[in-house]
Amino acid sequence: MTLHNEPAHQTPFLPPACLGVMGGGQLARMFIQAAHQLGYQTAVLDPDPTCPAAALTHHFVHTKYDDPKGLQHLAELSVAVTTEFENVPQSCLETLAQTRWVSPPSKAVGVSQDRALEKAAITQAGFEVAPYQVLSDGSQVNEETQKLLPGILKTTRMGYDGKGQQRLKTLEDLHSALNAASKGLGSPTFVLEKQLPLLTECSVVIARSFDDHVVHLPVQLNVHRGGILFSTTVIPNWIDSALSDELIHASTELARALNYVGVLCVEFFVLQNDHTSTDPKFHWVINEIAPRPHNSAHHSLNSCSISQFELQVRTLAKLPLTQPTQHSPCLMLNLMGEMWLGGPSTSNEMRQQTEPPWADILSLPGTHLHLYGKQEARVGRKMGHLNITALDASTALQTFNACCKILGVDPGIHKPLMFGAP
Ligand code: ATP
Ligand code: MG
Repeated sequence: MTLHNEPAHQTPFLPPACLGVMGGGQLARMFIQAAHQLGYQTAVLDPDPTCPAAALTHHFVHTKYDDPKGLQHLAELSVAVTTEFENVPQSCLETLAQTRWVSPPSKAVGVSQDRALEKAAITQAGFEVAPYQVLSDGSQVNEETQKLLPGILKTTRMGYDGKGQQRLKTLEDLHSALNAASKGLGSPTFVLEKQLPLLTECSVVIARSFDDHVVHLPVQLNVHRGGILFSTTVIPNWIDSALSDELIHASTELARALNYVGVLCVEFFVLQNDHTSTDPKFHWVINEIAPRPHNSAHHSLNSCSISQFELQVRTLAKLPLTQPTQHSPCLMLNLMGEMWLGGPSTSNEMRQQTEPPWADILSLPGTHLHLYGKQEARVGRKMGHLNITALDASTALQTFNACCKILGVDPGIHKPLMFGAP
């Protein structure tokens, strides 16, 4: 068995070595694009041969994630393996780690797969989360539960993009949700989280090397709609500098507490009404972590000297990390399936799929279109993203608004996160 902490294993894996990735969605696609730019070969394992990364990778292993032969084949092809999503079974990463360098470590991925474990780990590291209770059936409801309402009931496992979540107002709502779940398959465990009054949402992406060097991307301001990320704004000097420092520090310390190596995203809730004019301070809690590059840092492809995907390549290949710098203000807009289907409806039925007017978008200076090669548009499906950069913030905002108008979405209001900001 290879011991990855031996001195020989501290040397980088240089191109044209082959880097492997579990999963072939858009995050894998952008990871392999960064790997190819640096001269690496790539191998992807995914059960779907039409997945976004399949068309681009040198080697494609077409099996289920937990297929022993598939895992063995991926390990044979690759010098090191990463994952593009947290729900790959932890045991698969453990199997791969017996013979290959794997980043992020399987244990940290396992923590992020389970909201209850994740919240416990965040709390143990010394950071606050939204008040919560772990529940699997109605008998566990007690006098503390009432204090968590109105709240959000989230399945502990397999949730993403707001899926597996229900907003509840009363104990009756809670009991009927738990009853309904107990009649379904698998009797899931939940966390009931108090619904917090959010001022805004932020996220931080950091990269930590095997030898504890940590770098970060700028703090990202995120807008969610219907539980799905709508836009991210990254404009220099738009975030209170004390808050920015705190969030970057917390992300770094959390990565250390988890013995994390690789790219990690930490999502924060910044809360309303918890500051005074004499001691201005934003109050925040950690929402959750993602053990991988994150949608909210896609801006880095066009706004920063090193993108989050290059950071993933560097941490996986044990290449040096240098601190990325932001060269352009940027807004990122997610391109959702409904933009292909003529507007926001909850139904996919009988709606003709039409390509949005990309020529109009690309006629505007500073627009960077990233499409993931998905053939079928569905409501709520992420088809791509648009990064908008400019020399100054107001031009970037104007272009963002113009793009939203072309695409038929409400741009919303984007403003700095500062005391006294309008
Ligand atoms: P993703 O995978 O896209 O990050 P997710 O399915 O893991 O999403 P969460 O991050 O838990 O879901 O929640 C999605 C969004 O719902 C949050 O970004 C936030 O806008 C809202 N939300 C979740 N929990 C709370 C809460 N306790 N109080 C207020 N709003 C919340
Ligand atoms: Mg989230």
